[in-house]
Amino acid sequence: RIVVEGVTKAFGSNEVLKGISLDVNPGEVVCLIGPSGSGKSTLLRCINLLERPDAGTITVGDTLVTDPECDIDDFRRRVGLVFQHFNLFPHLTVLENCSIAQRRVLKRSRAEADEISLRNLEHVGLADKAMDKPSSLSGGQQQRVAIARALSMDPELMLFDEPTSALDPETVGDVLAVMRGLAKAGMTMLVVTHEMGFAREVADKVVFMDGGVVVEAGQAAQVIGAPQNARTKEFLSRVL
Ligand code: ATP
Ligand code: MG
Repeated sequence: RIVVEGVTKAFGSNEVLKGISLDVNPGEVVCLIGPSGSGKSTLLRCINLLERPDAGTITVGDTLVTDPECDIDDFRRRVGLVFQHFNLFPHLTVLENCSIAQRRVLKRSRAEADEISLRNLEHVGLADKAMDKPSSLSGGQQQRVAIARALSMDPELMLFDEPTSALDPETVGDVLAVMRGLAKAGMTMLVVTHEMGFAREVADKVVFMDGGVVVEAGQAAQVIGAPQNARTKEFLSRVL
């Protein structure tokens, strides 16, 4: 469970987050939507402590992440991150990409790490690519490897930041299918996305952000299907 309360963040005089509150319950999928520059990525980066919020609190499970005493390394390994750019190591095989952090961070043996990696690669439909280099894979396949890599760390929740927006249209569907499967399996997920079809179908809640505030939040069918706020309506009319 993620609880964000009153989080603010400024870069110099640019107030990017102006008191954001939201929560993601265990097993829930929350989709975060909003125009470019509204602060979506900054909020995800705050949740993973890639940025320090100026004020407010963030709790993940029973950990107060914004407590200065919080063990950042220990916390981060409980959270799976998938970004727009997947940052696989080009010189390692797909299997090694999935296993390396398990061995280095979780101190798993090579055999155990590889077994877990293979299981997750199978899960995303790429077991047959285990011995290939990332460069021989399509963008969508590389993104699925990034998801398998994150899952191999046994995260208690997954954060996605526009995981499909850098992909060729024909490979987007496979990545969304993997994410849909994860959601069905009960993974707690916070997903920044422009895929309104995915949000409408998979999300338990949709949060619309604009200008560093949550403008509207609620059930997907309501926020996307029958938005109340003029800014939400205007945004949706551009992306739908
Ligand atoms: P997009 O849909 O384009 O990804 P976003 O909603 O994710 O947009 P953010 O990336 O969170 O928006 O950026 C919000 C604002 O914060 C922007 O004005 C951006 O320039 C600013 N910003 C983000 N990171 C930094 C940083 N490290 N230093 C200075 N300004 C930053
Ligand atoms: Mg962003």
